[in-house]
Amino acid sequence: MCRHLGYLGPVTTLAELVLEPEHSLLEQSFAPRDMRGAGTLNADGFGVGWYRPDGSGPARYRAAVPMWTDGSFRDVAAEVVSPAVVAAVRSATAGMPVGAGACAPFSDGTWLFSHNGRVTGWPESLAKAAARLEVVDLLTLEAPTDSAVLWALLRQRLGEGVAAERAVAELLGEVVAAAPGSRMNLLLTDGARLVATTWTHALWVRRTDESVVVASEPFGPADGWVEIPDRSLMVADTGRVDVTALAEVWQP
Ligand code: GLN
Repeated sequence: MCRHLGYLGPVTTLAELVLEPEHSLLEQSFAPRDMRGAGTLNADGFGVGWYRPDGSGPARYRAAVPMWTDGSFRDVAAEVVSPAVVAAVRSATAGMPVGAGACAPFSDGTWLFSHNGRVTGWPESLAKAAARLEVVDLLTLEAPTDSAVLWALLRQRLGEGVAAERAVAELLGEVVAAAPGSRMNLLLTDGARLVATTWTHALWVRRTDESVVVASEPFGPADGWVEIPDRSLMVADTGRVDVTALAEVWQP
């Protein structure tokens, strides 16, 4: 299953965040340590989304190649600086297409979104929920994948003014009710807060005085990482990390 990370804190280069650390996302693409379910490599593309130091953005770099083969990204990553980043390496779920458009992070307006997991019974299991989407949302879907449909459903809720953490928890609840056994680690940011869920995949958080990072697998400094319990909703900014059991937010 894919690996993702979210970062908020002092301005960093993308290279310092995703390429250089010990067990970086780059390393997690070819030597992940905690893949659950199918997949041993995250070689079906990758994506990085980042906000500019003035808070504007996000911009993205996505490609349908393994991260370790992309020399252009290495060059760009050494130059781009950002205080808020979401990055992901992809292991495509069997039967789903490979292409840059299928790589997280997905984006709309000021949002970045990533999904680590799979929706069981795809696509039939999502058909009822997807019927709520406007035709134009379906026609402009970035890829015919579970993750892209999850993003279309989530951004619809966000567009209706639903608070980010509620929108994420409600979407997760709706999907696991319709598709039991789904793996639903979601990650959403507006550049100021990270909202994430754990639903049968690992997620770790590390906070310092000025930064917070969440990641499928710890990287960089060995100290300070805390594993988020399964079936949790996490909301974090550089000042605090709140973790709530999803059962308290949404009753299965
Ligand atoms: N199911 C999603 C996809 O195929 C995410 C895959 C994953 O988390 N490994 O893109």
